Amino acid sequence: MPSAASWAALRHDLAGELLLPEETGYGAARRTADVRHDAVRPTAVLRCATEHDIGEALRFARRYGVAVHTRAGGHSFAGFSTGPGLVLDVSPLDDIEVDLPGARVHCGAGVRTGAFAEALDAARQVVPTGLCPTVGVTGLTLGGGMGTTGRRHGFALDSLTSARVVLADGHTVHCDAEHHPGLFWALRGGGPLFPGVVASLSFRTRAEEPVTDFLLGWPAEYRARVLTAWQEWAPGAPDRLSSMAGITAGEVWDGLPPAAVGGSWLGEGSDLERQLSALVAAVGRGPDTYTTASHGHRASLRFWGGSPRGRLPLLLRRHDFFARTLPGSTARELIAALERDLHPGESRNCDFEALGGAYNRVPEHATAMVHRSHLFGMLSQFRPGRGRSNRRAATAALDRLHTLVAPWASGYAYQNYAEADRMDWRRTYFGANYPRLAAVREHYDPHGLFRVPFPAPSGLLPGLPSPAGPQLPPGPPGPVRETGAETGPRHEGCRP
Ligand SMILES: Cc1cc2nc3c(=O)[nH]c(=O)nc-3n(C[C@H](O)[C@H](O)[C@H](O)COP(=O)(O)OP(=O)(O)OC[C@H]3O[C@@H](n4cnc5c(N)ncnc54)[C@H](O)[C@@H]3O)c2cc1C
Repeated sequence: MPSAASWAALRHDLAGELLLPEETGYGAARRTADVRHDAVRPTAVLRCATEHDIGEALRFARRYGVAVHTRAGGHSFAGFSTGPGLVLDVSPLDDIEVDLPGARVHCGAGVRTGAFAEALDAARQVVPTGLCPTVGVTGLTLGGGMGTTGRRHGFALDSLTSARVVLADGHTVHCDAEHHPGLFWALRGGGPLFPGVVASLSFRTRAEEPVTDFLLGWPAEYRARVLTAWQEWAPGAPDRLSSMAGITAGEVWDGLPPAAVGGSWLGEGSDLERQLSALVAAVGRGPDTYTTASHGHRASLRFWGGSPRGRLPLLLRRHDFFARTLPGSTARELIAALERDLHPGESRNCDFEALGGAYNRVPEHATAMVHRSHLFGMLSQFRPGRGRSNRRAATAALDRLHTLVAPWASGYAYQNYAEADRMDWRRTYFGANYPRLAAVREHYDPHGLFRVPFPAPSGLLPGLPSPAGPQLPPGPPGPVRETGAETGPRHEGCRP
C-alpha cells in the first residue's frame, strides 16, 4: 500500500482533487449514483481535472499495485465504477464543443447525457444517446447507448469517430479507424472490459428532426395482450419509430399505467397515427390514456427521463435480449409470475425495448458490440418491500421470471445493464467478440491494471428449445383516444 508520503507526492503532481478517507469531500466523492454501492469505501478518489492527472494516477496505481476503478456518470448497475482501490472520476472533464460545419461534437469524458443533448440541441444537431440526463456519455457509449433515436441512427457508439485514451502506462493515444484501430474497436462495445481510461470523445452529428413522443396506457387485465401485440409490432416498425412496452405489477411504477407502450416518432409528416392504430387493433381495445407531445430532442429526453432528482433507489435488475417473440401463453405466464407472492409496497416492472432498424444493420464483428440481431430486450426491475426477507422473496421472483422466459431469450444481455454475478458473462455480454476483446486487453494492458470486474468461471448457455403453445387471438380493434396531456410519465429519478 502507498504511504501517506506517496499520496502526498501524487497530490503534488495533480491539478484535480485527490480525496482520502476522513478528508472533507471524500464522503460525497466516493458515492456512485446507486444506493446499492454506498458501503464501498475506496482507498482514494481522484477527481481528474486533466488528461495528465489520469496518466499520473495510472502510473501511481501500477507502481503501488493499487486497483483502478474508472468513473464517468457513476450509473453502472453493478457498481463497476467503484471499489476498494483508487477511483478515477473523470466528471470534471466536461467541456463540449459542437463543430457545426464539420458535423462533429467533441466532449470531455465526464459529460452527462443531459448536458450533451442540450449543447447539441442548441446547434440543432443530434447524436443518439440514452434517456437519462445524468448517465455519463462515456459509460453509455462504451457499452452501447440505446434511446429514442437508436432505431434510426444506431447505438451511441455507432456515431463515435475518435477518442483520446490514457493507457495503463500513463501515455495518451488518439484512436480512430486508422490509429489504434483495435483499441477503437474495443471502445465501441467493450464496456467494463475496456483497457484504458477515456479522456475525451468525438462523435458524428446529424441534423435534428422533430420528435413526437407518445405514451399509451391500458388496465392491468390487458398486460398480456399488450405485450403480445407490441412484440409483433415494434421490432419491424419503420426506423423512425422507437418504442418500449412496460408491464407492471404491484405498486405504480414511476407513474406508469400497468400496461404501457411509449415511444418516439422522428421527422415530419407523421405516419404515427396509422402505426398506433395498427398496435391498438392488435391489442383489441383502445387505450385508457394517450399522452402525446411534439418537440425537439432535448425536450424529448426531458419527457422520458425527467430531470435529475436524487439518487437511484434500491432495485433488483436483470436484462435479456430476445431474437424470437414470446408466445401469447408465455406472455400470460409472465404476468402471472409477476403477480405471484407480491408483498405490500413492492413494485415489479418489465420494460421491453425494441431493437431492429439501424441497431441491427452493423455487422456483429465491426465493433465490440455483438448485439446486432435481436428483436428486443427485456429489463426487469423489481423494487422490493422493506427488509431482508422481502428482498430475498423479490430476488426469487426475479429468478423465476427469467427462468420462465429463458427458452425464448437469445442467451445474450446488454453490457450497459451488466450484473456483476452473471457467471456466463463472456458469452452473455460479448459473444463471438470476446476473444478479440481479450486480445486487445492483452496488447494494451499486459500487466492487467484494468481488472475484469466479473466472476472468474465462465460457461456457455445450453441450446435453445423451440417455442410452443398457442398465440393469443387479437380482440376487436378499438380507437386511439387522445387525452391531450403534454408531459410524459413522472419519474422519481430517471429510469432506463
Ligand atoms: C437510471 C439509469 C438510466 C439509464 N438509461 C439508459 C438508457 O436510456 N439507454 C442506455 O443505453 N443505457 C441506459 N442506462 C445504462 C447506462 O448506459 C450504463 O449504466 C452506463 O454504463 C452508465 O455510464 P456512466 O458513465 O453513468 O457510469 P459509470 O458507472 O461511471 O461507468 C460505467 C462503466 O464505464 C466505465 N467507465 C466510465 N468512465 C470511463 C472512462 N473515462 N474510461 C474508461 N471506462 C470508463 C466504468 O468503469 C464502468 O465500467 C441507464 C442506467 C441507469 C442507472
